[in-house]
Formats: sequence, C-alpha cells, structure tokens
Amino acid sequence: MKKALSFDIGGTKISFAIIDNKGNILNNIEKISTPNTKEDIYNSLKNIVNKYKNEFDIITIATAGAVNNENTKILSSTGNLPVGYNEIDFQSLSIDKKVVIENDANCSVWAEYQLGSGKDCGENIVLLTLGTGVGGGIIVNGKLLKGKSGSAGEMHFVIKNKKRACTCGFYDCYEAYASGNGLKNTAREIYNESTITTYDVINDVKKNDERAILALNEWQHDISLGIIGLVNIFDPNCVILSGSMAQFIDYKKINNFVNNNIVVQKTEIKKGYFDNNSGIIGAALFGFDKLKGED
Ligand SMILES: [Zn+2]
Repeated sequence: MKKALSFDIGGTKISFAIIDNKGNILNNIEKISTPNTKEDIYNSLKNIVNKYKNEFDIITIATAGAVNNENTKILSSTGNLPVGYNEIDFQSLSIDKKVVIENDANCSVWAEYQLGSGKDCGENIVLLTLGTGVGGGIIVNGKLLKGKSGSAGEMHFVIKNKKRACTCGFYDCYEAYASGNGLKNTAREIYNESTITTYDVINDVKKNDERAILALNEWQHDISLGIIGLVNIFDPNCVILSGSMAQFIDYKKINNFVNNNIVVQKTEIKKGYFDNNSGIIGAALFGFDKLKGED
C-alpha cells in the first residue's frame, strides 16, 4: 500500500497527515501556523518531511495559488501568503521521493469526485469552495480542467454592476459577492453599518434579525447566479459546495432556483463531504494517480 505525506498550505495554517491510497488518514491531522516568510515555510516543511521520512512514498501539496500543468511548481500565489511564496523549490524537499503540487480547490474537487459527495454523481463536476474568498475546481469528462497554464477554475467573472472591489483588482466579480467577505459586504450595505462581520450576520440570523436574513438571502441569490452560468457552460452532473460557508446554504431553495433557470438538463447542488480535509486527501489521491501513470 502506497502512502503520501500530504500538506495543505493556506494563508493562516498548514495542515498535514499521512494518507494511504484509499484516502484514509493514518495518523492525526497536525496543524501549524503558516510562517511569515518563504524561507520559514520551506524550513517547516523540510523538518516535517525529515521527521516522517520513512513513512511515505510521495509528498503531496495542496496550496493556494495557481500550479503549473506538470504539478511541480506554483506559478502565482495569493495575497495571503508571503512575498516570494511561488519561488519556493518544493521539489528539493526530498531527494528520492516525488513531490506533487496542485491548487487547493482542484484537490478538493478531486477528493469529492473520487470518494466524497461526487463519488456516484458522474464524470462532470463543478466545485466551489466558499470561504473568505471563493475557489473553484472543475472536472470535465473525468479529468481535472487545468487550462493552458494550470490556472483554470478561477471564480473571477462579473455578475453585477455595483463597483464592488474584488481581491483580484477588478470589480464586481463572483468572488466579491459569493464569498464570506461578500456576505459581510452585502450585510454592511443592508445594515448601513461598516463594522458588521460575517460572524455577526450568522449570529443575527439565529436571532431572526430581518436585516441579517435579507443579507443571507441576497448572498445565496448571488451564489445561485454564478452557479446558473457555470451549469450552463459545463453541464455538470452535480455542483458541490465546500468550505466554511457551505453550511449556511439552503440547498433545497438553491436547487430549485438554479434548476428553474438553466438551459441544460437538471443538475444537483450538494454540500461537500470532506469539509476541511478535502485538500490533503485530494492532493494525496491526485499524487497516487500521478505515480500510477509512471509505473
Ligand atoms: Zn475578481
């Protein structure tokens, strides 16, 4: 049985575990805070690799940012990781084991497709990770959609005309409305208060606050608008929502609205199975597939 030492590198924490080729987590998932410099990130990974060096066959990494089509390096990283993060030489973490890197949302969709909510759904899946931002992973005819440079699935397409700034530097992208930050900003408009947080909105919904309910409904409506476009373009068997914000979705309502407004055959919108572990599990499964191709 093959084993991976699998990492998920995000802006605030790095989680890692040993995972077998059935997707089982063999020890506890360990977590460290993401160091502030690229050198410290590399050294932390190197120490972990050395500690577990006799226990794995491959190193796999799920990361924020775009990854090249060869899965060897990061092309561009996001603002929540240190400057120069994309220059880290991940391949040198081990002299004798393969190192396979993939974007975190792509790893999530791979985990859901192989073993999670998308397992019996079909060969075409769109996954959205709803967190502080929005990530995307797309499977077309059983293959991960990577695009010409490896960056496909970025959820930056315009859905409104309100001049709301987006993290990418442009305006009114899907991410600016469908993310946790999107909910927060929609709530700030509705409450007419500039200090409202996402946490406040969720709390107020529980108290039946009308403004919070309005904000949550508008946020879900915005999420649906993007899904309608994605469903019409990719005609997926299912759309999977994962990430910390996916638990606040009314799936019945969103399924009805989307399916009433698409031009392709009916699809199903469902919650992801793996929650926060889809990155490390998906990276490992993806890495094992790469090894198989070389045997
Ligand atoms: Zn954008």
